[in-house]
Amino acid sequence: MSVDRHPQGPRVLFHVGGVGVRVDWSVAVVLVLFGYAVAAGVLPAAAPGHSTAMYWLVGGASALVLLGYLLAHELGHAMVAQHFGVRISTVTLWMLGGITELEDDAPTPRAAALIAAAGPAVNVVGGVSALVAAHQLDEPLIHAALDWLGGCNLLLAGFNLIPGAPLDGGRLLRALVWWRTGDARRASLIGARVGRAAGLALLLLAAAELLAGDAFAIWPGLIAWYLIQAATRERDAALQSGYGDVTVGALMRPQPLVVPDWWTVRQVLGEVDARGQDQPAVPVTDPDGGCATRTTCTRTGPEAHRAGDVRPCPGPRPGTTLYPMSVLLAYTPTSEGWAALRAAIDEAHWRKVPLIVMNVAVHNECAEPTFADEKDLDAVEHRLIERGIDFEIVQTVDAESVSDAVLTLAAEREPELIVIGAHRRSPLGKAIAGSTTQHIVLSADCPVLVVRTDADAA
Ligand SMILES: [Zn+2]
Repeated sequence: MSVDRHPQGPRVLFHVGGVGVRVDWSVAVVLVLFGYAVAAGVLPAAAPGHSTAMYWLVGGASALVLLGYLLAHELGHAMVAQHFGVRISTVTLWMLGGITELEDDAPTPRAAALIAAAGPAVNVVGGVSALVAAHQLDEPLIHAALDWLGGCNLLLAGFNLIPGAPLDGGRLLRALVWWRTGDARRASLIGARVGRAAGLALLLLAAAELLAGDAFAIWPGLIAWYLIQAATRERDAALQSGYGDVTVGALMRPQPLVVPDWWTVRQVLGEVDARGQDQPAVPVTDPDGGCATRTTCTRTGPEAHRAGDVRPCPGPRPGTTLYPMSVLLAYTPTSEGWAALRAAIDEAHWRKVPLIVMNVAVHNECAEPTFADEKDLDAVEHRLIERGIDFEIVQTVDAESVSDAVLTLAAEREPELIVIGAHRRSPLGKAIAGSTTQHIVLSADCPVLVVRTDADAA
């Protein structure tokens, strides 16, 4: 048989015609087993009257010669493969026969068929010549040994021609399907599937034999097990390679709507509607032609602040001052802050625009009550995700004043609406609802929604 994988194997023992030959220790088991079968079973029955030592000598030699035939089978594959320019990694002999590792696939179905057929052909030639030689010889002992070798070779050829991968018959079947359909992958899949079926049938047959009392049925049972494993691996490999030659063009819409990053969300949705296309995602490109993702500012918690690692929200790129329309919320982690958040979410939802949530702490005072810590912002983020709002969270921790920070961001992002929460009774509420709110309402270029709460608790 031949495989195109790279199993971890024993070391290379010797080379034949430039092909490295590995011999697994389990070959010793085969030698002893076959030697015993010939010395104790075949020879005494066919040529009685010899000493036990003589039987073992001829039996051992026969087992070695059989091993030579196994190697010749694999080298048959290897030589024909090399003829077609297919590189050979190594040939391995082990308990269940031989494996020829091919580095790459055969160039044509014809080459694949000839590479596969070469192994069994060696056994047919070897088997027939052993049988012919046996009938030329009068010596019963040698005659019996050659008879056995001839039979084994023909059996080997026949077994390997079972049409399921990784057996040679499976390779021939694959080559045939490949030739008929022109689809190497489909051919591999069919070869592997038939191989699994053949392995399963052999396993059942061996199990039945074993139950009937034939202990030697263990052998075909092991081979069947190995066949099923190998065929399954090949089937999976063939399935996985399914996308190997599928082009992106076959999966992608031919001319999708692609928009520059300064388009408003409204424009994009309008364009998608106008095209009448059901396009679930719209690629966005930046002015340099790259593919851009939505800008989100780095959220900085108190830890980052202490470490001096406060990164400002990225400002507009030179030449691109247009942002999508938005609602800007000046958020504080208070009950009125939550009330304002609810109102801002409703506004953003209704206007179909993103929501910018801004939190400001003045003069690096993380301890001041307007500062939203990581937990607060997580809760806000959770709520926004829950409502399916496109959002951005901006935190400024070293502002001169809350109103200055809000107005600066508003001047930059030009929101449709600014939302502020205010509490009538608390000192903080007064502070925000007082001068801060007044300043923002008077100075902003857009409407300002002031959400007032009277309750003490949210
Ligand atoms: Zn083979």
